[in-house]
Amino acid sequence: MASTHLETLDMDGYVATIKRTSRKGSVGFRLSSGKVVILAPKDISASQISLILESKRHLILDKLEAQDRVTSQTPVMSQVERRYLCGERFAYLGGELVLKVNKGRAGACFVDAKKINVNVLNTKPDLVRHALVIWYKQQAQKHIEQRISYFAPIVGAWPKAIEIKTYKARWGSCTSKGLVQFNWKIMMAPPTVVDSVVVHELCHLLHMNHGPEFWGQVMRVCPAYQDAKQWLKNEGRNLGLD
Ligand SMILES: [Zn+2]
Repeated sequence: MASTHLETLDMDGYVATIKRTSRKGSVGFRLSSGKVVILAPKDISASQISLILESKRHLILDKLEAQDRVTSQTPVMSQVERRYLCGERFAYLGGELVLKVNKGRAGACFVDAKKINVNVLNTKPDLVRHALVIWYKQQAQKHIEQRISYFAPIVGAWPKAIEIKTYKARWGSCTSKGLVQFNWKIMMAPPTVVDSVVVHELCHLLHMNHGPEFWGQVMRVCPAYQDAKQWLKNEGRNLGLD
């Protein structure tokens, strides 16, 4: 009897669906509307496919990201209704900041007594949002640099540079040139969750894959990694200011 069971692989950042085909030898992959479909011969095991996908990881993630930018019809992180008015609450490192919009001269945001002060020329939501994003990015740069100086000696690997980026569906990435990149939206998560992402990327400086040695290193440095991952799975879609 033909099986209708769908094989999927959680590739940490995306889920691949495997379609068994009668093709011989090679494994193909196809991206459509944010989904990765793997066309594979029947005699190739899921772990073999997983290894092949690992070797193409950066290519696939880049393609997904590019597609995300073009289509963006189904945002991966669900949108929270925001109006950018005084009194609205914004998550920050496990706590909350209350928005205070000051109309007048544009200037840097600052936090005072759990209030995030945004200084804008006018109170258009877009302007307030933009100012907040800049602030979150600056905090991310400072906070993550600090966490990297803490964890790098424990992991035993130092990045060449740290970059803060805007991603739709990733929290961090690491290039083979030693550049580590982080999504500023992670600053809306609790500190332990931020740490887990920092450790994950630092460990990629030692292992550019998600093999057993990589995970061994992650778990050694960050024993609560699974909890953090679960938290992101449940709450990640609510982070960000989209
Ligand atoms: Zn990874």
